[in-house]
Amino acid sequence: MSRPIQARIDLSALEGNLNVARRYAKSRILAVVKANAYGHGLLRAASALQAADGFALLDIRDAITLREAGFRQMLLLLEGAFGVDDMSLLAEYEISSVLHSHNQIRMLDAYPRRGRLSLWLKLNTGMNRLGFAPEEARAVVSQLSAHPSVRDITLMTHFANADMPEGIATQFERFNAFAASHNLPRSLANSAALLRHPTTHGDWVRPGIMLYGSSPFEDASAKELGLRPAMTLKSEIISVREIQSGEQVGYGGMFRSESKMRVGVVACGYADGYPRHAPTGTPILVDGQRTKTLGRVSMDMLSVDLSGLSGAGVGSSVTLWGEGLPVDEVAQAAGTISYEVLCALASRVSVVE
Ligand SMILES: *Cc1c(COP(=O)(O)O)cnc(C)c1O
Repeated sequence: MSRPIQARIDLSALEGNLNVARRYAKSRILAVVKANAYGHGLLRAASALQAADGFALLDIRDAITLREAGFRQMLLLLEGAFGVDDMSLLAEYEISSVLHSHNQIRMLDAYPRRGRLSLWLKLNTGMNRLGFAPEEARAVVSQLSAHPSVRDITLMTHFANADMPEGIATQFERFNAFAASHNLPRSLANSAALLRHPTTHGDWVRPGIMLYGSSPFEDASAKELGLRPAMTLKSEIISVREIQSGEQVGYGGMFRSESKMRVGVVACGYADGYPRHAPTGTPILVDGQRTKTLGRVSMDMLSVDLSGLSGAGVGSSVTLWGEGLPVDEVAQAAGTISYEVLCALASRVSVVE
């Protein structure tokens, strides 16, 4: 018997969530599969999402993996090239690339042309992470339009606050002011903008988190958005003990009982990807019933409150997140976001479909 922890990926949920994206946006969909498809497995997720019009990711080797596996859609590298060598691979495998810096233009110039490239020119409209300021982008568009190694250009930007009340207004205005004078395809929307800001849809939307069944918003649950969890992380209770009032549980004695109680130990810890900062009280399911974690999460184990779950014992099934317990709730309790929790799933956890 192997250790009972397992992540199950629900392929039909991925497919269904893509359909939700289609219902919201008429534009073409670039499914974001970076970070091993947010922890779900690159090839597995891409196969379930094969109705997407393209895939966006970071690592050129992953893009080549998708090409070699037979994916014919647009593949886009979100951080673009990291060296001149990448340029030849982009051409060879027909992979599109973000271009966000003068450094990447120098790579383009240095590339001994073997094919022409599709580039997504990234505009910095206020996130101040990657991209050209609209003022400098004008010259870059002219330069790229005349460049012998460039086949076509798409304009893109990324929103900092599409999930927040501040919204997208300022960045959207800056983008439009630039895009209005260029007749080029456009891409702006992440999941939050796709769901809440239809005016931003442009030619390509770029949903990530919603495809995996998690909400980009604090004020709307995945369920309310019609999304289903794609990953369910399960394990089992491997030990049960009764403790007396005043006893402590786990490292640092972060939980101290106020009465006699039953405590279960779950085979799941931070080395499996469970957030170590999840405090006492983080929701968890035992035999499908909601209870809470107790004390600090260890490397390989965590403890749960079994008071009131008289049927629960060694071998009881535990859901860390997924079906029946939104990963958003666990992330929020741990002071983080579902993105981090999902993509932190450790490679030692076996994944099944
Ligand atoms: C990660 C990413 C996305 C997807 O964002 P979600 O919030 O997961 O929908 C879209 N565009 C870019 C440039 C990204 O880096």
